[in-house]
Amino acid sequence: MTQPKFSNSVAAREKMTFRDPNASGATRQESSLESRYRKLLHAAPDAILEVNEEGRITLLNEAVERMFGYTRAELLGLNVDSLVPASMRHGHAQHRASYTTKPNTRPMGTGLELQGQRKDGSLFPVEISLSPNWIDGALHVIASVRDITERKAGENRIRTLREQYTAELTLKNEQLEARNREVERANSLKTEFLASMSHELRTPLHTIIGFSELLTEQLEGPLTEKQQRFMGHILQDARHLLELINEILDISKIEAGRLELKRESFNFSQCVEEVLAGSRHQAATKNITLENKNTFQGSLYADRLRIKEILYNLLNNAVKFTPEGGRVWIEATREGDALHISICDTGIGIPEKEQPSIFEKFYQVGDITGGVREGTGLGLPITKHLVELHGGTISVASHPGKGSSFRLVLPLLQEQTQ
Ligand code: ADP
Repeated sequence: MTQPKFSNSVAAREKMTFRDPNASGATRQESSLESRYRKLLHAAPDAILEVNEEGRITLLNEAVERMFGYTRAELLGLNVDSLVPASMRHGHAQHRASYTTKPNTRPMGTGLELQGQRKDGSLFPVEISLSPNWIDGALHVIASVRDITERKAGENRIRTLREQYTAELTLKNEQLEARNREVERANSLKTEFLASMSHELRTPLHTIIGFSELLTEQLEGPLTEKQQRFMGHILQDARHLLELINEILDISKIEAGRLELKRESFNFSQCVEEVLAGSRHQAATKNITLENKNTFQGSLYADRLRIKEILYNLLNNAVKFTPEGGRVWIEATREGDALHISICDTGIGIPEKEQPSIFEKFYQVGDITGGVREGTGLGLPITKHLVELHGGTISVASHPGKGSSFRLVLPLLQEQTQ
């Protein structure tokens, strides 16, 4: 050092702190305490140094040497600004000056990214806390410097990962949204297509059915037995096709959320009679007894046509899957605020493991209903949707070879509560 005055004072501070180990009694005790303090200081992983009013280093622990790459001799008396990046030195001198006006224990440069500069000029991130140390009326400052290189690197790694994940997530979300839009568009196109196709197909079918009926009535002249048989086939298949088209139209409307109920108050027992009348012919051809066990004489506030559709679907299945000479019946009773309806048959039944699947689209029970394949597998899913739209539930109880019973529970709503 080229400043003898300063060097002396530093030497004096060093001497004051680390006493002669050969000192006597009390001093030795003190010295051993001091040596413990000294070890404590040197064992600290943080660089701890004391700076005098002129900004010169007066005391330091070993970590300062390790951290900044100077020897102890080089550090003692060195202006602390040398440990600050060259670009910050000017500002640092000012900060030191301002600290003397309000010296207290506090972190340095809160909110700033502080850096230290090693002897070789390399920089590293640090965290510094300052505390005043008054010595003979002169203000010294103790600085505790922590090298936060690893912490910063960790933070940077986490930030990079977070940014990477966020970017990936954003991309995935965008892709997902685009896919969703595509699916929605395809779905609505499908619905529109089905709706318009069904409409287009229904019109000529009505013509086919109407004229076939006229011909079978033989008002335009007699038909041979063979011609009558042919007309029968045409009518049967045309009606089946119409049913299929209606069901496809229904399911596409339901899936598009476009099926709305038109509720009205109507006489339920009359509705049951009408549905039974519609199935009577089909039942008679198989010698099946149709019974009406309805005890509910009140009115139902629901979509009359849809309730008829529900009952007709279930009754039609019951007759379809019941062999010659069997029985089919409708039961209905009021229980509290709900109407319990059962459509029962003594037919072929449904195996237990198949029962949950029959409400799925296009599902038809395998072997057991083999031979009876004129259905579409859409009747029950549509029925279930319609029941649920009415706020009701549908369930099945069935035993193969004994028969099935489809149970509906419909809430009895009052017109004025709607
Ligand atoms: P389908 O047009 O084939 O009748 P559904 O959706 O109405 O379609 O019924 C699905 C399947 O559930 C039927 O194919 C049949 O296997 C079975 N099923 C429905 N009702 C009965 C019943 N009453 N008895 C026996 N099986 C039935």
